[in-house]
Amino acid sequence: MNKTTDFSKSFRDSHLVQGVVAEIKKVTTQNWVLMEICGGQTHAIMQYGLDQLLPQQIELVHGPGCPVCVTPLDQIDRAHAIARLPEVIFCSFGDMLRVPGSEVDLFTLRARGAQIRVVYSPLDAVKIAQENPDKQVVFFAIGFETTVPANAASILQAKAMGIKNYSILVSQVRVPPAMHAILSSPHSRVQAFLAAGHVCTVMGYWEYHSIASQYKIPIVVTGFEPLDLLQGILLSIQQLESDLHIVENAYSRAVLENGNQAAQKIINLVFKPCDRNWRGIGNIPQSGLCLREEFSLYDAEKRFQVGHIQTREHEICIAGEILQGLKKPFDCPAFGMSCTPTNPLGAPMVSSEGACNAYFRFSNLNNS
Ligand code: SF4
Repeated sequence: MNKTTDFSKSFRDSHLVQGVVAEIKKVTTQNWVLMEICGGQTHAIMQYGLDQLLPQQIELVHGPGCPVCVTPLDQIDRAHAIARLPEVIFCSFGDMLRVPGSEVDLFTLRARGAQIRVVYSPLDAVKIAQENPDKQVVFFAIGFETTVPANAASILQAKAMGIKNYSILVSQVRVPPAMHAILSSPHSRVQAFLAAGHVCTVMGYWEYHSIASQYKIPIVVTGFEPLDLLQGILLSIQQLESDLHIVENAYSRAVLENGNQAAQKIINLVFKPCDRNWRGIGNIPQSGLCLREEFSLYDAEKRFQVGHIQTREHEICIAGEILQGLKKPFDCPAFGMSCTPTNPLGAPMVSSEGACNAYFRFSNLNNS
């Protein structure tokens, strides 16, 4: 057993968990709705059955922090159209391959002969471009602020190496505008946010102070282990019960107020904020990160004219409402019936960070 294993185990210690749960029960006097932003947090909550340990007055709803889930359908269809081109090697993280577009998914296209490769980093895609000068190599650059620095580094590396057959199809999103969008909805039930610890590792949490004061809502930067999550919930409930609404950091072993300045610098060098569609939610102003003009040569959307994209969302899927915390996966009539991880109708059932996937994988465990 190595030190890393010991370290993570200490954040799963059942006695410590019970202690924090007891503290949460002690301070909770009324109903509260909390949203965890990140799909990784949703999976940890379901995996460890943390929702089952909480007092019944506390409801956890699941936020939009699943990059695969919020990548808009038109961009997925565009990815498919580009991947079909015979001159293209299309590179993507593995999670995206099963995400249904309007007609097919990338797995199906690969089975039909398209050159689609799973990579673990955009830098792998740059290497593929270097090794295949007669091909166009496209990386599907999806994700939140956590993945953007590596995407930016791939562009800078391609430029420095004079690699011209590399481009990225961009669908990057930012968390703070999504928090604004959720809280300004007249249907919002969210009374406190557990902010995504890994996003804050990169971006810090300085941007959250104005959100907390504008909407009078506690925001607690929270990690991913059981104790991290319970500590985030405890701090949120303590604030709610005391009518406070400030930003607190319950993940101080990884997150600084100003985040990772070097990572932010590289992001700002290559990308700029832009409006972006979120699947199931719609357009959120300034919620995306697009390539700056000086890097437009690397923009796959400009490089490949794939014509008009006509999308067709599966009519039964309620992913948009789940991503806004308005409904739960169990509310979907297709859940576990016509929609399963092997036959997904929507992205939240595919992704390792999707709420539907988490419920499917762990709900039996929770009910046992
Ligand atoms: S269970 Fe499937 S169809 Fe229903 S919301 Fe989730 S992904 Fe969509």
